[in-house]
Amino acid sequence: MPTTHPTFCRICEALCGLTVETEGNRVTAIRPDDGHVATEGYACLKGLRQHELYGSPDRLRYPLRRQGDRNAASLSRATWEEANADIGSRVRSILDTHGPDSLAMYVGTAAGFGVLHPVFAQGFMQGLGSRSMYSSASQDCSNKFAVARAMYGFPFTQPFPDVDRTECLIIVGANPAISKWSFLQVPNPIARLKSITSRGGKLWFVDPRRTESAKVAGEHAFIRPGTDVFFYLAFLHEVFARGGIDKRKVALHMNGLAELRRIAAPWTPERSAEATGIDAATLRRMVSDYLGARGAALYCSTGVNMGPEGSTAFWLQEAINAITGNLDRAGGTLVGEGVIDFAKFGVKNGVLMRSDRSRVGDFMAVNDAFPGGTLADEIQTPGPGKIRALFVTGGNPLITMPGSARLRDALSELELLVVLDILPTETASIADWVLPCTSPLERPDLPFIFPLMLGMQSRPYLQATERVLEPEGEVRDEATIYLDLCRAAGVNLFGSKLAQRALEMARKRHTKKRRETRPDAQPALPERSLLSLLLRITGQGSFDRLAEHTHGRLRPPHAPGSFLASRVTTSDGRIDLAPPALVATGPRLEARYEHERLDRRRLKLITKRAITTHNSWTHNLERFVAGENSTNYLYMHPTDAEARGLVDGATCDVRSDAGAVRVPMRTLADLMPGTVALPHGWGHQAAGGLRVASATGGVNVNLLAADGAANLDPFSGMARLTAIPVDVTAAAGPKDSSNWSGVPSAE
Ligand code: SF4
Repeated sequence: MPTTHPTFCRICEALCGLTVETEGNRVTAIRPDDGHVATEGYACLKGLRQHELYGSPDRLRYPLRRQGDRNAASLSRATWEEANADIGSRVRSILDTHGPDSLAMYVGTAAGFGVLHPVFAQGFMQGLGSRSMYSSASQDCSNKFAVARAMYGFPFTQPFPDVDRTECLIIVGANPAISKWSFLQVPNPIARLKSITSRGGKLWFVDPRRTESAKVAGEHAFIRPGTDVFFYLAFLHEVFARGGIDKRKVALHMNGLAELRRIAAPWTPERSAEATGIDAATLRRMVSDYLGARGAALYCSTGVNMGPEGSTAFWLQEAINAITGNLDRAGGTLVGEGVIDFAKFGVKNGVLMRSDRSRVGDFMAVNDAFPGGTLADEIQTPGPGKIRALFVTGGNPLITMPGSARLRDALSELELLVVLDILPTETASIADWVLPCTSPLERPDLPFIFPLMLGMQSRPYLQATERVLEPEGEVRDEATIYLDLCRAAGVNLFGSKLAQRALEMARKRHTKKRRETRPDAQPALPERSLLSLLLRITGQGSFDRLAEHTHGRLRPPHAPGSFLASRVTTSDGRIDLAPPALVATGPRLEARYEHERLDRRRLKLITKRAITTHNSWTHNLERFVAGENSTNYLYMHPTDAEARGLVDGATCDVRSDAGAVRVPMRTLADLMPGTVALPHGWGHQAAGGLRVASATGGVNVNLLAADGAANLDPFSGMARLTAIPVDVTAAAGPKDSSNWSGVPSAE
């Protein structure tokens, strides 16, 4: 007899409500939840097929231990007792000999979609006393966190467009139709974009590719990759030129307007056009739409974040939204309210507010983490604090980080590499220990930290989900794993003996209770009770009460006008429109402008995503990588292909200053000439244990991206993963690219 479970998807920020049907302990179908209070029957293919991913025969079910040399390693089954004892004693030994910072952690995106995983991972590092935290944010969004802290006083103070009321939305370097929104939960992006224009609003896309979103509604302007900062400078120039400043709001709530005016002064639309390719008339039309609206917003995502000057560009965007009066205004940008005032809490308690600097590169910690692009150097540079052990939790840095080839060498030098995941990965292939974790369907949960603590939702709500499936094999949740690792290493979670003891007792009691009905149940913390405690502390009632709202429980709608007067957490409570470290980028921009204006010899490589892929996660699902979809392609404008004598389907060598890959090419007229696009997340041939993904073609685009301090954004430590200068030629070697992702020898 089938059973129906209400739950929600934890693959991306849309968090779509789902209805899952099970028989026994197997999912038979997943459907969108038509009655969901916010997502209203929307879900995508990935969410509806996630059970096939988690139910794969390749799923990690038992702890695995490396046998033999790291690069010719094989992993064999071990027990949890062996894993905890070995990892614990090695951690203890490294801690005692080399100090806490020699133990590092890399937290991937997957960790951010549950509540307990990131909290307990952080608690483990606090227990060790280590500052060596790295996160996937420095690949796609650290610029936003660093800028928000400088302007608003807290990294998670992230204004988002009031999508349902805006009269003008300008989207730069984002493609919600495929990637959904980031830093904002907006389900059914296509319908929401259409609704802006159907109610008479203006919608613009600024992108080097006419994206799937740009084809939905609104107008599109091509921009040369990597020149976003000049677009924003010209936009700001025009705002000043037309007197589009909300003087009252600026006087009441902001500092630094004069400095901002000085910075914008030289950047006329005509001057900026020589770099961006957006002609002055088009830019002026965009500014007219923006200033003419009673509520307008500029919004950007990874296309801006991952390019050069991502921090400066984002700062200018935020400054424009603020000085025009659109920040904290209906139809403009809003700052959500979570179940607590997280910014106030963070500033008061120093949470996510570290200001220490990295050993390599002297980067300031962003969200209490250092840039991933320095990780290889931190492992390979001798001296106090040299990283000797790494825990990778919910991420796959060997595919997702810049300088992947160098990073592989560096990881191979570690004394201890531990990976916690659901499925094998490239990183797991070279680990000493691989620890199997529960999948989202096997755990109770709340919507992840963005909605819960920050209210970054177009329609605020809360939801609680029970576990849908019983965990099989010996998988454990990460919270329990980190608690046990603390005990094994002789440290206390969160650095608190009391917390460690209390949680160990709770784990013991809960495990005993579970074993009354399931004698083979793995030791586990009472996740549901911990989530309930979090809800109670934040005044949201119990987990049980929330779970009764099977389609979610609406929270009060956003209140425009609630932010500026009381929730800015800078020292004087006013927005800093001109943070000195960002103002200081000025001279660098002049040099970059000259380069962008004059040097067009090389193509610029951007990223691209298919609806069926999500970073490096979904390539082990046969139906998503069948036939034509079994590789990534380099997309090139037909005129660029013709100029290089390349025909559709040709195999090409793509060379950057950092590396090279060989990949099949397809022409795409939606690209701006001079731009090529290569989807990320591919290149799984070295992933032992992923039977489907390792047999796909495809190359890791991040072999073309450079790591190392000199190649990162100095302000935020962001890697440059888009707008990479490349040369493309016909393949100089074998046409079969399926297992090839190295640097081809020079002709
Ligand atoms: S858009 Fe797709 S992947 Fe994202 S939450 Fe919804 S169903 Fe899941």
